[in-house]
Amino acid sequence: MGDLRFRLPLAGNPRVNSPYGRRVDPFTKKKGAFHSGIDYKADVGTKVYASESGRVIRAAKHVALGELIIIDHTPNAKDGTKFLYTMYAHLSEYSVKLGDDVKRSEQIGLSGKTGHRVTGPHLHFSIIESTTKVKWNATGNTGLTSSSTFFKNPEGYYGVTTKADGLINEITDERG
Ligand SMILES: [Zn+2]
Repeated sequence: MGDLRFRLPLAGNPRVNSPYGRRVDPFTKKKGAFHSGIDYKADVGTKVYASESGRVIRAAKHVALGELIIIDHTPNAKDGTKFLYTMYAHLSEYSVKLGDDVKRSEQIGLSGKTGHRVTGPHLHFSIIESTTKVKWNATGNTGLTSSSTFFKNPEGYYGVTTKADGLINEITDERG
């Protein structure tokens, strides 16, 4: 896992509409709501790329997050080790399907504004770490305010900082 190197899920240097961490919830206006990812400005139809190689474990609609892709970057990891996932929400189209193995920088879909938790077109991107392997539960978890409830026993939610070349150079646990 040490050689995973996450890149931005969009080309160029996309503007951040809403950073990771505490914020005023755009829907409830409540202060201190936790945003477990980053919202990048992206017109509907912008190409979305796999941040790192992995296996698609979800490519299906979610009520709040819209058309949603989750990639498992540790498909061969064993229980007791760490698992890493990335999530891409509010998409308009898929280029991949459940079970596909994708390469870093491969196009996985197009951005959009699907799902209830969206005020305009953007890409919500999260990196999630877990100590247990995640299996998507199709029956659970609607009306989410963060990605956390997607995951069984999540360990951490990470913010990312990027370099000019679009590579993610630091992942910080801002909750700790
Ligand atoms: Zn978001």
